[in-house]
Amino acid sequence: MSTNNKAETFLVQIGNQKNETHHAISTPLYFSTAYRHDKIGVEEGYSYTRTGNPTRTVLEEAIAKLEGGDQAFATSSGMAAIHLVFSLFEKGSHFISSRDIYGGSFRLFNVLQEKYDFEFSYWDGEDEADISELIKTNTKAIFIETPTNPLMQTANLQKVSAIARNHHILHIVDNTLYSPYIQRPIDEGADIVVHSATKYLAGHNDVLAGLVIVKGKQLTEELAFLHNSIGSVLSPYDCWNLIRGLKTLALRMNQHEINARTVKRYLESHPLVTAVYYPGRSGMLSFELTEEALVEPFLKALNIFTFAESLGGVESFLTYPTTQTHGDIPEDVRLSYGLSNRLLRASVGVEHPDDLIADLKQAFERVSRLEVKTI
Ligand SMILES: *Cc1c(COP(=O)(O)O)cnc(C)c1O
Repeated sequence: MSTNNKAETFLVQIGNQKNETHHAISTPLYFSTAYRHDKIGVEEGYSYTRTGNPTRTVLEEAIAKLEGGDQAFATSSGMAAIHLVFSLFEKGSHFISSRDIYGGSFRLFNVLQEKYDFEFSYWDGEDEADISELIKTNTKAIFIETPTNPLMQTANLQKVSAIARNHHILHIVDNTLYSPYIQRPIDEGADIVVHSATKYLAGHNDVLAGLVIVKGKQLTEELAFLHNSIGSVLSPYDCWNLIRGLKTLALRMNQHEINARTVKRYLESHPLVTAVYYPGRSGMLSFELTEEALVEPFLKALNIFTFAESLGGVESFLTYPTTQTHGDIPEDVRLSYGLSNRLLRASVGVEHPDDLIADLKQAFERVSRLEVKTI
């Protein structure tokens, strides 16, 4: 298939017209871990699934094209993808990371710091020029999450890439919250993109998966070696399931965005909401209630929004970062950069927006009655 097609067409066609044997439309699922060789010393096609699997290849080739990279690596989770990337660096390396990041990434960075002598400096996400001041002689990469999670700050990736290039260090972007349908960091100069494909890419809360997409021959070779050596690869079934999810990425992202904009407008006008953070695209937004005491009853009162810890699926979720996704970040650190105990993060799904608003409305009404009672 031509790579000049629009993203919508490319996504829907993933895997179609690849199967020469039976002309299957849906990508065949190869469970076989071992592959027959015809001769000694001839390495052709596949040999062992950790090294390569035909179902995984369909996924990896598709996502590499979607992100504008040279090669992609499918991993067993988003964290495995981030860990794979950090296994590129020697002990004693220094990194600069966005301050407001996924709690699991922060936790991994702490492990790397304690056990492998990695050092991390955190950038507050305000002015890209400040990143230069954090660079040291042993700095190896800048790790950016944009939009950030959960405060939805966006970074100018071109500016960050220019700084990385000037200092001959790598620029790594976690593109989970936008997906390549909205943002292609490699086009903006990034070297490596990582994903929790568990979220928007798979889209149905039924696949745990990660992806690393890379530009450049040397990085491709190093990551291929490490992917196979470490072995946290994605199973063929999950590759297949992720391909299935990707086909509707564009449809889903468009509806997520329409719904999120509607929810944003509603929340902004509500007296029990003091702030709404929306990055401008996708279905992610966060908002602050007037009081921490309202969080629990509000979550209990909702019928459509599910109180759950993930994002990017077709179902609408509300997450409480304080105890869930960001529970591993010390409270004083969280509060210092604005992640308050009154903050709720919404992953707005693809239900009818009227029903979502009605659900929020009835929950707010119940909570305000409670408020009156306690006073
Ligand atoms: C969920 C998430 C991760 C971790 O991915 P898993 O698939 O849960 O391992 C990393 N980064 C971001 C932004 C996430 O939302």
